[in-house]
Amino acid sequence: MCGIFGIYGHEEAANIAYLGLHALQHRGQESAGLVAQSDGQLHRRCSMGLVSDAFDRKTLAQMPGASAIGQVRYSTSGSSELKNAQPFAFEYAHGGIAVAHNGNLVNAAELRAQLEASGSIFQTSSDTEVIIHLIAQSREGDALERIASALRQVRGAYSVVFLTETKLIAVRDPNGFRPLVLGRLKDSFVFSSETCSFDLIEAEYIREVEPGEMIVVDDKGLRSYKPFAALRDEPEPKRFCVFEHVYFSRPDSVVNGLPVHQGREKMGMQLAREAPVEADVVIAVPDSGVPAAIGYARESGIQYDMGLIRSHYVGRTFIEPQDSIRHFGVKLKLNAVRSVVNGKRVVVVDDSLVRGTTSRKIVQMLRNAGAREVHLRISAPPTAYSCFYGIDTPTRSELIASSHSVDEIARYVTCDSLAYISHEGMMGAVGAPAEGTGFCSACFTGNYPVALSKTVGADGGELISLRSGD
Ligand code: AMP
Repeated sequence: MCGIFGIYGHEEAANIAYLGLHALQHRGQESAGLVAQSDGQLHRRCSMGLVSDAFDRKTLAQMPGASAIGQVRYSTSGSSELKNAQPFAFEYAHGGIAVAHNGNLVNAAELRAQLEASGSIFQTSSDTEVIIHLIAQSREGDALERIASALRQVRGAYSVVFLTETKLIAVRDPNGFRPLVLGRLKDSFVFSSETCSFDLIEAEYIREVEPGEMIVVDDKGLRSYKPFAALRDEPEPKRFCVFEHVYFSRPDSVVNGLPVHQGREKMGMQLAREAPVEADVVIAVPDSGVPAAIGYARESGIQYDMGLIRSHYVGRTFIEPQDSIRHFGVKLKLNAVRSVVNGKRVVVVDDSLVRGTTSRKIVQMLRNAGAREVHLRISAPPTAYSCFYGIDTPTRSELIASSHSVDEIARYVTCDSLAYISHEGMMGAVGAPAEGTGFCSACFTGNYPVALSKTVGADGGELISLRSGD
């Protein structure tokens, strides 16, 4: 997953983009990068690690200009590679172009093979680079048409910002899988994955970039295009990623028109109605389980307390590749508060259960701290399918719910009871009709709205060979 940001028309563009990325740090901690444009030159700086480690006053001062784009990136496993850090910046026949991408293209491997067969030399192993080669090969006369024709060839999820010598261009794929919002800061326009960056830079939220929309900002102002409209008689249905509401977005953001905190709280309330239990205290797996636990407590009337404390000085344990480290990592990250759980019947609420290793550790931790009963409640349905549109889920075989029943999972995590919210319950909480129209929930249902390429495998069994640009 990743976060992207763009700004046009501000004398401190790189500084503002730095702050914008800072607020998106939860979307990616592997690498951070900025490209700023001044006098027709693109200045790029990318680094592994956090935004605050990647840039300082001196490096930002070397990025002059009134427009900039940036990205924070997060990937699940494998070596950390600087060459895949974005934004990418290239020179081609029509000048310089930089790109920052959130999402995952499902036909990138095929397109790359075709491009390589016709002589393209790739510098990275990221799917995003395919877009750049398609732009460079386009015969269209106009920069916007070249970008549109490249994007018409890719399939999957992309919220993307491009920076050229004269323009900032923001595009969202026709299904609108990943978020992207437009705002205004004084006389400049800003784009971000989430509204929480607008709060930090004190920009005014204008609206979402619509699915299938291309917004162009240059010295003539802002214009909106629908470059994919001619591809089909009917517009593509919107397929916003429900997992953004469940886990990924920050609770203080508004995504897809809904405050994230509010959606999660409603999921918790619904979970309490669907899976009540007699208990003394409701606790959350912090931080992402907190709003749902508050909702569960409110609906059930059981008091909410802080039974688990999270250290904020370790990265997400999910990114650590080896099982042994991941097990230890949970202890590094979380600890039980004995005075809250000792002798109590505890309901512990988490937003999702993926491999089950975190929950198992947490249950043991709570029992060691004296919990008499541990009832695990998950505010999402069982994660049974991998995501190919930009969320880093492990391969299907590693997803415990792909091969185990709820009872079997409960036995594995050693809790006294386990319940997940229903799919309809989750959809209701985010304002969707029961059948989930308007959303992608493939990680829960296996209904992939954009057909997967051969390299992905329709059963979700294999990961695509290219690393995603997200
Ligand atoms: P697991 O041990 O694999 O069951 O991990 C479950 C925990 O990982 C939950 O506490 C979730 O909040 C968190 N989680 C779920 N999906 C992701 C993701 N894509 N990236 C990082 N953490 C995640």
